[in-house]
Amino acid sequence: MSTLTSVSGFPRIGQNRELKKIIEGYWKGANDLAAVKATAAELRAKHWKLQQAAGIDLIPSNDFSYYDQMLDTAILLNVIPKRYERLAFENPEDTLFAMARGYQGDKGDVTALPMKKWFTTNYHYLVPEVEPGEEIKLNSTKPFDEFNEAKALGILTKPVLIGPYTFLKLARTDQATELEYDKGLVNAVAAVYAEVLTKFNELGAQWLQLDEPYLVLDKEPGDVELFKTLYTKILAAKAGVKVLLNTYFGHIADVYETVNLLGFDGIGLDLNEGREENLEAVAKYGVASGTTIFAGVINGRNIWRNNYATSLGLVDALKQVTPNVAVSTASSLLHVPFSTEGETGIPADDLKHFAFAVEKLGELKEVAVLADATEDEKKASAALAANQALFDGTRVAADQAVADRVNGLTADDYVRQPAREERQKLQREALGLPLLPTTTIGSFPQTKEVRAERAKLRKGEITKEAYDEFIKAQIDACIKHQEEIGLDVLVHGEFERNDMVEYFGQNLNGFLFTKNAWVQSYGTRCVKPPIVWGDVSRAKPITVEWSAYAQSRTDHVMKGMLTGPVTILNWSWPREDITHEEQTKQLALAIRDEVLDLEAAGIKVIQIDEAALREKLPLRKSDWHVKYLDWAVPAFRLVHSAVKPTTQIHTHMCYSEFNDIIRDIDAMDADVISFEASRGDLVVLDAIHDAHFETEAGPGVYDIHSPRIPSEQEIEDRIYEILKKMDVEKVWINPDCGLKTRGNAETWPSLEHLVAAAKAVRAKLAK
Ligand code: GLN
Ligand code: ZN
Repeated sequence: MSTLTSVSGFPRIGQNRELKKIIEGYWKGANDLAAVKATAAELRAKHWKLQQAAGIDLIPSNDFSYYDQMLDTAILLNVIPKRYERLAFENPEDTLFAMARGYQGDKGDVTALPMKKWFTTNYHYLVPEVEPGEEIKLNSTKPFDEFNEAKALGILTKPVLIGPYTFLKLARTDQATELEYDKGLVNAVAAVYAEVLTKFNELGAQWLQLDEPYLVLDKEPGDVELFKTLYTKILAAKAGVKVLLNTYFGHIADVYETVNLLGFDGIGLDLNEGREENLEAVAKYGVASGTTIFAGVINGRNIWRNNYATSLGLVDALKQVTPNVAVSTASSLLHVPFSTEGETGIPADDLKHFAFAVEKLGELKEVAVLADATEDEKKASAALAANQALFDGTRVAADQAVADRVNGLTADDYVRQPAREERQKLQREALGLPLLPTTTIGSFPQTKEVRAERAKLRKGEITKEAYDEFIKAQIDACIKHQEEIGLDVLVHGEFERNDMVEYFGQNLNGFLFTKNAWVQSYGTRCVKPPIVWGDVSRAKPITVEWSAYAQSRTDHVMKGMLTGPVTILNWSWPREDITHEEQTKQLALAIRDEVLDLEAAGIKVIQIDEAALREKLPLRKSDWHVKYLDWAVPAFRLVHSAVKPTTQIHTHMCYSEFNDIIRDIDAMDADVISFEASRGDLVVLDAIHDAHFETEAGPGVYDIHSPRIPSEQEIEDRIYEILKKMDVEKVWINPDCGLKTRGNAETWPSLEHLVAAAKAVRAKLAK
């Protein structure tokens, strides 16, 4: 029998982001729900057929989603908080969108579910909320409908669901700890999955894939028990359908023995991120006779070509233990762009090094074919030879000047003087800000007009001068508006930037850019990360001119806005021939040049965004420092260590889960940090309090990921909650992230309420 190929999941947004466009059109009232459904069905059909044409055996279904697969799972299990049900929408899709984005209209006013990053990716999932007494039951036919839809096209798919363990571990429940998981909840969830299994059996499915990425995390007491309880119940319902337990983003060595004993038909292992540990575990505990190992050899997180020799070696290593080996993508391909087709801006000689989702399908098939080939066939294989040629020799020449600079760094380059407390005093005097200073995170709405103007410049329809005049007018208006509503520290609005990483990359040596390599970030939002191709250095000043211009237009303090080195790397496609640490150092030196130029140009407050610092924190705690923080935090210090004591360094992070790394965040030695705190609970404030956090902080007082406008009272209440936990001298008032994805209609009233709330609190404190 030839080696089976399996794809864990495929990008769903569409080659040209068709899904994004049609759904956003629906939100704006430009098209109806029927149009959304039609486009969705077309995309599903197209993606299934592509995989079929590539010769993939196990093609996923139910990997499609209008917004997020975790949200779909919550709805499948009827985990829908009452506040959304009370809106009483006719269409379930409208309830789904209300859960995802909040709702403000004639039916009511509710905030969205909290959103968090999906493991170490830049994809965000919605955090399900299990209310006490929630009736868990099978509540949707989505997985079955999509299976039938594919079947009608003649394609027998492998339905994919987020598994119950990952679901429960990521959901918010009223249980204090996982140990106390209410048995009723666990049983009810297991019962729904068992029912799903039974239904798929009736529908004629051959495989069902249950994704359990949470298994790659450290186990807390009770976790293994929870996993066993769930799966013992679920597997008892197994009739004809084979169950593939799929894991990714790391290894499961600590539970492999247990997993192997449960008798799954397939176990999916990530052989990129969890390679050594997973292989060792398989070698040590063996593979149950009825179990196939799905070798995750095709990386679902990078854009580089697979090294076939390496993949074949991995398959061989597994075959020493069991004959039953299938090849698979290491994770869903959701996290890579659609196809390299049409990327004409990249020279063919460079482009051949890349494989996006469609190309990865081809790789998967070729690896499977080669895995079945004899030694002679391999020697004669043109595919193998062509692949080998990509990895022979040097892909790109090293930049000696960059190497010299990195090698010349000393310990002092990583330390800012004087100590923070002293600086904060000096800055307070120098900047003359009120108590509870108000500011924003940097960007203001990127309206259609702004994007249209940038498109015109790109197409050569307007001159650079005309474009610059346009941007100046935007900045002028934005500054005036900020002054009018009474913000304290102003920003220029970032109208000249398409993206907080690409904009910098374009002005750095060593980067490559794509036209259409979009990857889903949250809901309908996508990002287009640039590619680190060679050694990085700053080609020329990047933001100085715009920041200096903006400062010249106001007497207020103008904050300069930069993206930090860790974030630039994390939101780019990194190289794989040198370490992340090395690449981050190169980036830190480039941004350091920019910081010093901004300071020299008269900018007194400089924000260096590290929006993505936490997202690449290794999933296992034992790796946190050695594999990441020990170099990521110093890289940030390297960026700002040479500024004057009175220059205030801000940073921003797009999340609030840093209780466990709070000391590391403090060790970045910024003067001020802003972060998200409005969708999640406020436990981070306890952490700030308990850790005697030294950095001044602006926990976001309202959620910018939702179009709803917070009231002044709501923000005032939020400020008081913050003041319960933080020293008022250290508190800043700001939204929880940049405003570029919002419209002006909601942005300005929200900010007016923010300023009014800050003023009201100040006045009360002064009494
Ligand atoms: N300064 C950036 C902005 O406001 C920060 C965005 C982010 O953290 N994602 O857009
Ligand atoms: Zn942010």
